[in-house]
Amino acid sequence: MQMKEIRIPEKRAVSFKVGEGKEFEVTDPKGSQVADLVAFQADNTSIRFSTKYTYKKTGKVRISIGDSLFTTEGNPILTIVSDDCGIHDLLYAPCNDWILTDYGQETDTHGCRENLFEALEPTGIPKTDVHSTLNIFMKSTIAEQKYIDIREPESEPGDTIRFRADQESIVAVSSCAGESTVNGGDTKPIDIRVPEDSVINSNF
Ligand SMILES: [Zn+2]
Repeated sequence: MQMKEIRIPEKRAVSFKVGEGKEFEVTDPKGSQVADLVAFQADNTSIRFSTKYTYKKTGKVRISIGDSLFTTEGNPILTIVSDDCGIHDLLYAPCNDWILTDYGQETDTHGCRENLFEALEPTGIPKTDVHSTLNIFMKSTIAEQKYIDIREPESEPGDTIRFRADQESIVAVSSCAGESTVNGGDTKPIDIRVPEDSVINSNF
């Protein structure tokens, strides 16, 4: 299948519709950069990817090749078909304006939640539904059995994760805006490859 490649500049996002059985890729071109992903059932966007039902269905808090992302109704929406990195986060929230402010980040740009919402705005999906993300390439660990401890990503330049859509889906991906350990200290672009006929929305 013909694919088109789009570079998401740092601190921005794109959304696209992907048909059932079609595949797309997310690549970290420079290394140590997180990409947040949300997914919605195309014909009923109130049904969406749920991190918690994904823990339940897979029995894992860290998913990779062969694992699916499940919806709020317990059905697979995306399945990981290849994965160069293997370390992604299901625990953490997408960063947003107040999280970045809490971290002391001086910025007039948005966090992932706002960026994902802006890229999804033409689809009519409300911001209140944008909060359950797969944080691709993000390394979270649990310290002392209770504290979430974010480490630098282990993704190398060019590391790619490939997804298959288990149903027609609306997907959005952001290049994470956190200027901290989460992205190895500075923000960088993210590349996506989507089917040639995809309709793309973005906030850049
Ligand atoms: Zn982020």
